[in-house]
Amino acid sequence: MAAEINQRLAGIATPKKFKMALNGCPNSCVEAQLNDLGIIAVQDGYWLYLGGKGGRQPQLGTRLDMVIKEEYILETVERIVRNYIQVAQNERLGEVINRVGLMPFLKGVLAWSSGGFKTCIGARYCKNGVGDVHVMAERIISSGGVQGNVTISGCGNACVMDNGAYCNVVILRDRLWVYNKNGDVDVVNADHLPEYLKRKSILK
Ligand code: SF4
Repeated sequence: MAAEINQRLAGIATPKKFKMALNGCPNSCVEAQLNDLGIIAVQDGYWLYLGGKGGRQPQLGTRLDMVIKEEYILETVERIVRNYIQVAQNERLGEVINRVGLMPFLKGVLAWSSGGFKTCIGARYCKNGVGDVHVMAERIISSGGVQGNVTISGCGNACVMDNGAYCNVVILRDRLWVYNKNGDVDVVNADHLPEYLKRKSILK
C-alpha cells in the first residue's frame, strides 16, 4: 500500500509537512495517531486517523468513525491529501481541521460536488447509507451532461437535499425517490435513473 500511495502522490507539493504512517494492526507501532494521516489495518478494512502531529505543540489525530474498505482506501487517501492541499492556509492538516471542523473537511473530501452534481458522503463512508452515491453519480455522468443541479443522498436522511435543485434523488435500498423541482415525487428503479433523467430533460 505504501508503494501504491507513493505512486499516486509522490512529488506533489503540500503547504506544510505532511506525514503518513501505515500500521498493520491496532498496536500502531509507527504511531498513526501522531501523523497527519495515520492508517491502521483492521479486520474488515482500515481505520484512518487525521490531523495528528508531534513537535512542540503535539496533537493526537482523530479517528474517523468508519472502517474504509480495501477497495476505497487508496482513493480516500488521495482525496484527503488533495483536499488538504486546496484548503490549507500554510497549515498542517490538524490545524486545518481545528479551523474548519472535521465534518466540513470530510464532506469536502468524500462527497462529490462537480458538474451540477452534489452527493452526500454515501454508504462508503456513512453507516446510515444504503446506496453508493458515488457509483450512481459516475453512472449518470457517463450517460450525458446534466442540465441543472442534481443532488443524490445515500439514505432517507437526505443530507444534501436542496430545494433549489432541479431534482433531488434519495436512495432507499433498490428504489429511488426522486423529488422534482415542480413538486412531483417519483419512485424510480435505480437502474433506470439515467433514462428517467433524460425523459425529464435533466440529462442531455
Ligand atoms: S444522506 Fe444518509 S448516507 Fe448520506 S450522509 Fe446523510 S445520513 Fe449518511
